Amino acid sequence: MSPAQLALVSVLQFAENLTDRQAAQAVACRIDWKYCLGLELDAPGFDHSVLCEFRDRMAEDDRADRLLAVMVDRLVAAGLVKSRGRQRTDSTHVLAAVRTLSRLELVGETLRAALEELAATAPDWLAGVVTADWVKRYGRPVRYDRLPRGADAQRDYALTVGTDGMTVLQALARPDTPQRLRRGKQVDVLRRVWIQQYWYDSASQLRWRGPKQTKDRNSRRGMPRRSASAPAADGNPDPASARVPWSGLEIVSLHDPEARFSHKPGKARWIGYKDHQTETCDEDMPRVIVHVLTTPAPEQDIAALDRVHTALATQHLLPAEHLVDTGYVTPQAIHHAATVHSVTIVGPVREDPRADEHPGFSKDAFTIDWQARTVTCPQGVTSPPWKPTIADQNPGLSVLFRRSDCRDCAVRKQCTGNVDGKGRHLLLLPQPLQEIQSRARVEQKTPEWKERYAMRAGCEATVSETVHAHGLRHCRYHGLAKTHVQHVLTAAGTNIIRLSQQSATDRNPRPPSPFYRFSQTLLTELAA
Ligand code: SF4
Repeated sequence: MSPAQLALVSVLQFAENLTDRQAAQAVACRIDWKYCLGLELDAPGFDHSVLCEFRDRMAEDDRADRLLAVMVDRLVAAGLVKSRGRQRTDSTHVLAAVRTLSRLELVGETLRAALEELAATAPDWLAGVVTADWVKRYGRPVRYDRLPRGADAQRDYALTVGTDGMTVLQALARPDTPQRLRRGKQVDVLRRVWIQQYWYDSASQLRWRGPKQTKDRNSRRGMPRRSASAPAADGNPDPASARVPWSGLEIVSLHDPEARFSHKPGKARWIGYKDHQTETCDEDMPRVIVHVLTTPAPEQDIAALDRVHTALATQHLLPAEHLVDTGYVTPQAIHHAATVHSVTIVGPVREDPRADEHPGFSKDAFTIDWQARTVTCPQGVTSPPWKPTIADQNPGLSVLFRRSDCRDCAVRKQCTGNVDGKGRHLLLLPQPLQEIQSRARVEQKTPEWKERYAMRAGCEATVSETVHAHGLRHCRYHGLAKTHVQHVLTAAGTNIIRLSQQSATDRNPRPPSPFYRFSQTLLTELAA
């Protein structure tokens, strides 16, 4: 079949949430699919594996995105999508098609998969590397219920597996080893997992890395601390550099090395990716998904916003107004979108996270004099000139009131939140960003702004539709590129379903309900 027909089959497949076999069967058996594809009634169809190969090709470069772009271009030409209108974006978590593994299972299974790969490609070479006891350790899947019990036994097991893995890697590095063995997919994963899970100390002793560092919620500076629930590594003191890396880098499954662990506080913990969907939301126009972005799970929403705008600019589809939730909004993002893309971001700016520490004396209660570089507090005291600083890797302005001014202040405790007599400290953003933040915090409390922002909520329905009707929540494939293909095809399928329902509704508008007709009659009579 032609690539165009296979692309259409793929879109229809995700529109109906079918497997490859079901889609191939639909091409062979269903008259509506044959009609849509322009096939003869007796066309025999194709083997379902063709779809898998076709998706592999779609995952190269930006072919999947171009497919959605072609659809959107046609809708623009038909007047169903307009540039410089309103759009809204939301993200949702996507579960990778992998099993959650403990660290011991991960290293055991990674080595076992590498041995399987080497046994298939170079059995003679492998015979000179392994010993008889390896068969017992790696002859069957490494599962948690088969692992040794107790912290000491598990530590010994981890080091045994680590030593075996290093034996394989060192044998692969020998000059007489064929190059092709080093290029194996599972061998590459073995190499990367071993770097992340083991290290050599100064005495050249192989060591099991300690658990990753987590941020101390009670520390204002976010200083890392050791996780209280994490087991000890190998009983030896381990420097911070000898811990497993943070979630953005850590490989958690050998089957999908690009999948990452992430969590939304109080909502979800998952291994996989994130899908950002952008759809139009203009009045009296259909809701069309115009852009899809797939990112690693730990990547923050705010990091995706500029990529979305850049992609929409390439398609000449930038909105005039973009509705997003708090995760996408910072003063920097509002400023950047306005100056670079001429897009107005409509979304709530975070309230001052330390407002509780200073009840009634938040940053917005202070008057800023940008010329004099000073701040005046609600009690009328003016600070010394501020100093430039760096906060969260961004430039800022540090304002520190004099201790002598604050010490005798009647409201010092409410304002400073401390009892040791220190002066009040404020952290300001550079002028344009600070003005955006202050203005937005006032504006977002008004009924007019809330009414304008209410349109964003429809994005939740789109996420729900793609998740429940088209199976978006669960990855069908491994790897970010193929997961992105799934997301794009899902978006294209969703658009087709929506537009077909829209045209049906336009042709046969739903009649008003009996009560609506009754109320209209009643209102007419009352008016008379
Ligand atoms: S504590 Fe200092 S900064 Fe706060 S209101 Fe009193 S004088 Fe002003």
